Amino acid sequence: MDKVYIVRCGESALKGKNKPHFERMLVQRIKKNISELGDIAVERADGLIMVRAGRDIPQSEVVKRVGRVFGVDSMSPALEIPIDGMDAEEVMQVLGAVAVDVMNDIIDRRDIKTFKVEAKRSDKSFELQSPQIARSIGAIVLKSCKVLSVDVHKPDCRLYVSVRRGFAYIYEEKFPGFGGLPLGSNGRGMVLLSGGIDSPVAAFLMSHRGMNIDAVHFHSYPYTSERAFEKVKRLAGILSDYCGKIKLFSVNLLPIQEQIILNCPEEEMTIHMRRFMMKIAEKLAEMNDAMMLITGESLGQVASQTAESLVVTDAAVSMPVMRPLIAMDKVRIMEIAEEIGTFETSILPYEDSCSVFLPKRPVTKPKLERILESESRLKVEKLLREAVDSAKITLISPRSDK
Ligand code: ATP
Ligand code: MG
Repeated sequence: MDKVYIVRCGESALKGKNKPHFERMLVQRIKKNISELGDIAVERADGLIMVRAGRDIPQSEVVKRVGRVFGVDSMSPALEIPIDGMDAEEVMQVLGAVAVDVMNDIIDRRDIKTFKVEAKRSDKSFELQSPQIARSIGAIVLKSCKVLSVDVHKPDCRLYVSVRRGFAYIYEEKFPGFGGLPLGSNGRGMVLLSGGIDSPVAAFLMSHRGMNIDAVHFHSYPYTSERAFEKVKRLAGILSDYCGKIKLFSVNLLPIQEQIILNCPEEEMTIHMRRFMMKIAEKLAEMNDAMMLITGESLGQVASQTAESLVVTDAAVSMPVMRPLIAMDKVRIMEIAEEIGTFETSILPYEDSCSVFLPKRPVTKPKLERILESESRLKVEKLLREAVDSAKITLISPRSDK
């Protein structure tokens, strides 16, 4: 018997007439993420997705790879029992016997004293209703597994029984996915990817809503090192496991930074740099069919992220700027970074393009007119063109593809 994984697709299921379209996208994504593990079938089944994998394929790999697909709410490795042509009593006996085997196996592995059976009947023509199924299976388990008693409120173990047309399923575990929407269902965005903690999380969150991602990183070589860029590539690689292929642009900001130092007040350095970053990112986005910019800014986190600074930064571009972390505390951002696996890499200590030229007392409440006035001393268009023309592209693929 193949192993079956029942995959639940949260929000995609709410999309009315679009539902089949979203589910088909999800099936494609799941197939792509697990195809290299071996012979695996993925198909839609009445609002669920069923993944069938040979028993030689490790469950942990399937769970990990399917769990990374946006749009997947949760999944359960399950036993699939054919019930076609049986009457309800026979079905209960067959399922009861399987349930006893499953519970005995759990008792061997874990210290459990109480259990509860939760049943669901999606085949409404089946004669027994869900509570009757649960009671019936529960009674068979109780009779065979003498160490167990029923606790309907806080059981040590929940056993799920699902009766569908032609098949019933028994499972115990539910592995959570990230939810969200299937990748590719919501346009393309260009993330400004520093080597820090925040921007990878911002990219992940937008991609989790179905957006394809490209990225631009600014460095100040030779003030920033090759190793600092390696770190950014590594972060993009981790993101790529979730977000698919990423075009990573790298741009040397040093020529622009030198012009700012020469022509603008020192305390305005960072805000001018931020505006240039946005402008360059916007141009690269336009050239690559991205319709939004994405940053890891969070209100008040640093001088360049005060409300006033964000207004001045925002005014540099006309493209919408997504800031998914804007109202999040750093602690929460770090939790997500841990969860998605970027944190350890983000905290590696390499130089950053922004910190190389950090002013001693950066403005925290810049006025747009003042900033525009000092910016007018620079050859903005020429600097932008040179920066965009010099952008280098690195293609980042999911690490599991390699
Ligand atoms: P992060 O942890 O993402 O580096 P941060 O708290 O250090 O964020 P800033 O350095 O002010 O914040 O940058 C704010 C945002 O600007 C970043 O989240 C990122 O989107 C973008 N950004 C900053 N530096 C760079 C860079 N060198 N290359 C590309 N984007 C950058
Ligand atoms: Mg940073």
